[in-house]
Amino acid sequence: MNDHKLKFEEMLPCELLNQIKGASIAYIPIGSMEWHGPHMAMGMDTAHAYAVALGIAERLGGAVLPPLYVGTEKKRSPETLKKIGFSGDEKITGMDFPNNTVKSMYWPEELFRTVIQQQARFLCDMGFQNVVLVNGHGADNQIMVLEQIAQELSSSTNSRVIAQFVLFEGSGAGVGHAGLLETAVMQALVPQGVDITALPEKPEKLKNTEFAIVDSETFSNGGNDDNTVRYDPRDATVALGKSIIQYEVEHCLKELMLKIER
Ligand SMILES: [Zn+2]
Repeated sequence: MNDHKLKFEEMLPCELLNQIKGASIAYIPIGSMEWHGPHMAMGMDTAHAYAVALGIAERLGGAVLPPLYVGTEKKRSPETLKKIGFSGDEKITGMDFPNNTVKSMYWPEELFRTVIQQQARFLCDMGFQNVVLVNGHGADNQIMVLEQIAQELSSSTNSRVIAQFVLFEGSGAGVGHAGLLETAVMQALVPQGVDITALPEKPEKLKNTEFAIVDSETFSNGGNDDNTVRYDPRDATVALGKSIIQYEVEHCLKELMLKIER
């Protein structure tokens, strides 16, 4: 599969037609433009989704669309805020904690839905049998909207539209936001987008509330006793990042094989 083009925007019309008649899978990488700690650039989730989409396409075939740096988020509930270490009275959307120096670009949910839906519809109308929404941003409402788009387009068009999240437990680092997993992946993909020295030196602990680095377990069940980061971004290496991406590609392949239509 390595000898053919993977990027949709580089394909000639005759090559697109071959894609549609052949593997007939189009991938839309989707992420966010979001605060990922002081040590990481904001394009993380999207660079991540794009790398996994390209990795899948190398194995399964298909055309990968240019990545969309758009994502959505919601106001956090007082219960979730308490789990992270806040008092619960704060008004916080997504990962935009009060201590952050720049704001994330969270799109209103309905605008996000419209943009993704349209991009997917173009591909359905073009005749792709499968359209995969490859998502690197773990917000509950983003995952829900993508599932809804997948269901709706799968029943209203002749295409199968599939929402595929790229993060999995067991990859070698706990799933979370801006912690070890994402930092290692970003180091592997966009080394100029990571600067570990922007964080305090070890062994100083990193407060969840101070850096907006929070793992999934903390979001759902609460953090450790001192509300500090569990999967330390300062332990990230390029080698770990590469092996995580490999793991994610394999897991996505496993799930997609059960869902795509041939
Ligand atoms: Zn992220």
